[in-house]
Amino acid sequence: MDHGLAGQAAIVTGSTSGIGLALARGLAKAGVNVMLNGLGDLAAIERTRLELAAETGVEVLYHGADMTSGSEITDMVAQAQAAFGRLDILVNNAGIQHVSPIDAFPPETWDQIIAINLTSNFHAIRAAVPLMKAAGRGRIINLASAHGLVASPFKAAYVAAKHGVLGLTKTVALELAEQNITCNAICPGYVHTPLVDGQIKDTARARGMTEDQVVRDVILAAQPTKAFVTFDQLIGMMLYLASDLGASVNGAALSIDGGWTAG
Ligand code: NAD
Repeated sequence: MDHGLAGQAAIVTGSTSGIGLALARGLAKAGVNVMLNGLGDLAAIERTRLELAAETGVEVLYHGADMTSGSEITDMVAQAQAAFGRLDILVNNAGIQHVSPIDAFPPETWDQIIAINLTSNFHAIRAAVPLMKAAGRGRIINLASAHGLVASPFKAAYVAAKHGVLGLTKTVALELAEQNITCNAICPGYVHTPLVDGQIKDTARARGMTEDQVVRDVILAAQPTKAFVTFDQLIGMMLYLASDLGASVNGAALSIDGGWTAG
């Protein structure tokens, strides 16, 4: 399906792995020039960048902004504008997790999760909005989570940050609604990324279960379909929001969780 996005430019934060890399690939395949961002081995990131550019024919750049640094995030947005001459789509995706009872939760980990999962969205949006206002169009898409809508125990910082992302999303949507700039949040259930793979292996070891049992009875216990959300499903939702067809979806928290938050 042609989403009419060819020639546009996007930033996807946290796109050296998992969902972010898949979303960046989805945008590049739709003809969108993309700036990648994220941590990791620089040689491996460079290989990914070159492969993606060769595979799709669009311009693919990388900026190593640390999502805990407002000034580095601001520089990333400025570099994208300088290189592409425009910034149409901002996908705030970078995120980390930490699982711990509240009374043992390390305060520095709380600060880090709030910085990477929530405050980075503020900095990127703050820097991107003037460019979008000047262009008369923009799409801001924040990767929240089912945990932006409901809680699970032992994930205090993550759940708080993702609920915060929804508040930020709604506020930005209201502020920019008349300027043809939308701001929405995608709220996935479990997606089988390297992050979740680690959780499956750790839980299987800790509880003496097979990995299949962990997937069904632990990881996907709250996901009624008992199926992971796929990268293609997330890409479809993102491209729709980014396209002209998505123009009236604004300030929304779009669940894509197999029914998790219906219960
Ligand atoms: P992942 O660990 O595979 O990828 C996270 C990305 O964020 C990586 O590219 C990493 O380098 C980057 N990152 C982490 N800290 C950073 C920092 N300080 N500066 C810059 N980049 C940084 O994780 P994922 O599962 O693909 O998750 C991506 C997003 O989707 C997150 O916001 C996560 O909360 C959300 N999400 C994931 C799931 C899931 O089941 N995997 C479900 C709902 C929401």
